[in-house]
Amino acid sequence: MTFCFKPFLIFCSLFWIVSCKSQSTISANEEKNSPIINDTTFVNLKDYSPDFVYDMKYATTDNFLKAKVYDCAACFLRLKTVEALLEANKKFITKGYKIKIFDCYRPLDIQKKMWEIVPNPEYVANPAKGSIHNRGGAVDITLVNSNGNELDMGTSFDYFGVEASHKYLNVSEEVKANRELLKKIMNKNGFNSFDSEWWHYNLRSALKEKVSNFKWDCN
Ligand SMILES: [Zn+2]
Repeated sequence: MTFCFKPFLIFCSLFWIVSCKSQSTISANEEKNSPIINDTTFVNLKDYSPDFVYDMKYATTDNFLKAKVYDCAACFLRLKTVEALLEANKKFITKGYKIKIFDCYRPLDIQKKMWEIVPNPEYVANPAKGSIHNRGGAVDITLVNSNGNELDMGTSFDYFGVEASHKYLNVSEEVKANRELLKKIMNKNGFNSFDSEWWHYNLRSALKEKVSNFKWDCN
């Protein structure tokens, strides 16, 4: 037995040493030569399409915090969220509309500030668990027509009341149709709606991504 086993062991050890060495060399070269972008990498939406309208509310004082909590306006998301959003926007454009964006990725520290002001999980995710915004998988959006005017969705963005809910049916037929249009196309492109906020959409495949707290560069 010993006689048969020894050469095999030597062969295995040699194989292990060679394969470890080659693996570490490959990954070092990859890192050196190209930034590794995969579908969970955070990217800036504006680098992927000129066809969105931006009104990044938390880079202004026009929000429920009454404070400018982002140093500058930008829409960062995981690449897979961007890709799904591009597909949805293409569909809206064929119908004469465009997506207008209010919020995208949100650092966890900002989530904590929001929770201090509105500690109600119907409207703000508890930072202990983290929001899908903190995971780069959520967007707050509406639609604009070809003149750039927002469609009537019944309430303003971040209106914290039952009137903003998909379940609240005491709205005009026009509002109902506008919310339905937004929801139908977002659903078809991989997003879930959120009952209490007509403007909020979560990418289904991003629900379990890691929470992040990086701040984007404003230069
Ligand atoms: Zn949201």
